[in-house]
Amino acid sequence: MEIPGRIRRTVAVVGLCVALVAVPAAAQAEPAAPRTAQVPVVTAEQVMPHLRALQEIADRNGGNRAHGTQGFRQSLTYVKRVLDRAGFRTSLRPFTYNGVLGYNLIADWRGGDPEHVVLVGAHLDSVAAGPGMNDNGSGAAAVLASAVAMSRAGVVPKRHMRFAWWGAEEQGLIGSKDYVAELSAAEREKIDVYLNFDMTGTKDVRQWFVVHDEPRATDAFEAYFAARGLPTFDIGIGGSDHVSFGAAGIPVSGFTTGLDDCYHDACDRVDNVDPGTETTSANAVLGVTWQLATG
Ligand SMILES: [Zn+2]
Repeated sequence: MEIPGRIRRTVAVVGLCVALVAVPAAAQAEPAAPRTAQVPVVTAEQVMPHLRALQEIADRNGGNRAHGTQGFRQSLTYVKRVLDRAGFRTSLRPFTYNGVLGYNLIADWRGGDPEHVVLVGAHLDSVAAGPGMNDNGSGAAAVLASAVAMSRAGVVPKRHMRFAWWGAEEQGLIGSKDYVAELSAAEREKIDVYLNFDMTGTKDVRQWFVVHDEPRATDAFEAYFAARGLPTFDIGIGGSDHVSFGAAGIPVSGFTTGLDDCYHDACDRVDNVDPGTETTSANAVLGVTWQLATG
């Protein structure tokens, strides 16, 4: 995304998952601490087991969790079961791509104004070449751990909270495109913001790349990281499922911790995810989602 008047630095243009054009984070407005009074905190012990479960699913199914495979179906089943036990209303939304059935998983939390939806998502599929743990078991696990933590905390949102795990992102954002295409104009209007998380546990992370679009969410992420002394870079919309929403005029934000040496490779295993980075990312998802949904 072109942002005239700023210094641009190309961080990475590789594949579908990340085509980031990064610009230095704008002068941080007020690095005000987010509202943390009631926000729960997730620990590594609440996040990493989801990644280990997804790794085991890949190991049992030929080493990947790609669109149309048993590895993907079992990943869906795993995430859905966790959400069902936590009290979410879940549904599988089928779509067909390349003659193969794919699915999105949608989970709604009770309450909140249905005319104002905060939608939080991550793609659940991997490439065929590997198990997809940083890309994107990490984002899927961060969103899942956040949803479970909100349930345990008994969150009472003002805006309706919906969570999504997309299929066939690696084939070209297919699942999220299908979801957006199925929404009526009125339903699109109700989504105040879509937050996307694709690769959130990168080793040796240098900064959190914040998708700079919907102002309140963008500011909330920047403030969240600034309050913890963690550097951010602003990036435009690009590279993952938030593109499907942005293209439909739905405001977006989110973040990524960027590429790693095992990107789209067989070595993108659970030991390719840094537990500290992943836990920090999960808490950022949780903190900002909580703030946007309850504030
Ligand atoms: Zn990805």
